[in-house]
Amino acid sequence: MPRTALRICPLCEATCGLTLTIEGTTVTGARGDREDVFSHGFICPKGAAFGGLDADPDRLRTPLVRRDGRLREATWDEAYEAIAAAIPALVREYGPQSVGVVLGNPNVHTMAGNLYPPLLLKALGTRNFFTASTLDQMPKHVSSGLLFGDPFAIAVPDLDRTDFLLLLGANPVESNGSLCTAPDFPGRLKALRARGGTLVVVDPRRTRTAKLADLHLAPRPGSDALLLAALAHTLLAERLAAPGVLAERTEGLGELAEALARFTPEAVAPACDLTAAEIRDLARALAAAPTAAVYGRIGSCTVEYGTLASWLVDVLNILTGNLDRPGGALFPLPAAGPRPRPAGPGKGFALGRWLSRVSGHPEAKSELPIAALAEEIETPGEGRIRALVAIAANPVLSAPDGRRLDAALAGLDFMVSIDPYLNETSRHAHVVLPPPPPSQSAHHDFAFNGFAIRNQVRYSRPAVPLEADRLDECEIHARLVLAVSGRYGSAAPSAVDEMVIHGVLAKETADPRSPLHGQDPQRLAGLLTGEDGPERRLDLMLRLGPYGDR
Ligand code: SF4
Repeated sequence: MPRTALRICPLCEATCGLTLTIEGTTVTGARGDREDVFSHGFICPKGAAFGGLDADPDRLRTPLVRRDGRLREATWDEAYEAIAAAIPALVREYGPQSVGVVLGNPNVHTMAGNLYPPLLLKALGTRNFFTASTLDQMPKHVSSGLLFGDPFAIAVPDLDRTDFLLLLGANPVESNGSLCTAPDFPGRLKALRARGGTLVVVDPRRTRTAKLADLHLAPRPGSDALLLAALAHTLLAERLAAPGVLAERTEGLGELAEALARFTPEAVAPACDLTAAEIRDLARALAAAPTAAVYGRIGSCTVEYGTLASWLVDVLNILTGNLDRPGGALFPLPAAGPRPRPAGPGKGFALGRWLSRVSGHPEAKSELPIAALAEEIETPGEGRIRALVAIAANPVLSAPDGRRLDAALAGLDFMVSIDPYLNETSRHAHVVLPPPPPSQSAHHDFAFNGFAIRNQVRYSRPAVPLEADRLDECEIHARLVLAVSGRYGSAAPSAVDEMVIHGVLAKETADPRSPLHGQDPQRLAGLLTGEDGPERRLDLMLRLGPYGDR
């Protein structure tokens, strides 16, 4: 008899709620959950194919360990013992920088990928940390860090209430949105126009999103920063800027006009392949809208001056008074995120606290550009990467110069991949640890609730029991933390979660600004609910978060 189970879709940033149909232990169908508080029944063709992806016969079922040059099926213990024998020894001989860590994009779509990599990095003590974020969104994090003091303070357009939406380098009709979590993004764009609002798309290509727009401007690729600077210049020069209350909370507004003085529409128009009149008209329309939001995505990030363009997006939102107000660009407040605290001196946002060894690329958010990974493996010398942990990452396919990286990976002393597939990258691993299909994992969106257009919180328990030969994805990560730190076999995986819980509570109870100050951390840990470590950690984060216990 078929049954149904609710599950948040992990396949893109929109995080739609799904109703899965399950026969036995197989997902045979997926439809949009009409009662989902966020997506209200929306589903796209990718989400509808959840069952096919879940049951993909190409998925690995058991760990693989390289023996005699070939990857062969192994038990979980054999896999972790191989890691425990290799990585701590390399760290002892060559130091912590000899181990690199690569995170791929799917980590932000899983609980395990959010909860455990920071612990892995801490256990290894390495600064050789490379991420997919450095391929497509780091400029936005850097500009937010410099502007707001927090690289994750990314304002998202209030799609359902805005009167005017200016999209740059974004094609949400195809992508369903990025750094802006909104189920049925295309439907929301159509609704904006249906209620009399204006959609302007700036994109060199005539994308499907551009076809929906009231106005499509197609500038020369890479000229976003010039265009945005000229828009801001026009607002200031024509006295159209109206930051309102933001003026009191913003430093440097006075210097902006001077900094932008040369960027007149006439000056930038030839480089943008636009006319000065088009730029002026757009600035005037933006200023005249009752509410407006400017949103720039991948096309404005993956270009030279991407950080400047990302900053100018927020400058426009500030100059028009639309930052952090309904109908403008709003800062989400995720339930499992930190509780807002009054601004204090703090450490602020620092960039370039260390540099990559070979080319001297600055770190940002402790991350180094994945494009530099190959040279860090190839180039001899102290600190060369000799071992790699790749988590849900296939940079041979997705990073620049994949062929060079392919050759570099072949020269590693040791490599671990957490990956459901044997692919262009994981084929180089000495140990492959396959996570279970999504239906067998619990789900909460730690990352995407931080970019959601509505504050909400949802959690799905596994829809299907874990198969007998599988290991829970969180446990795969927890065991890896133990293996690289020389504790595999001597500590239970749950000890990793309990260590985090007790560490967080010790810090909170010692912090005079925390509502938990002075309380007994042991007693508080005993109050947490949850069937396992990850659930208890989520409970802790929710209780400490903005809507949590008072
Ligand atoms: S839009 Fe994204 S989250 Fe929603 S069903 Fe499609 S793939 Fe899943």
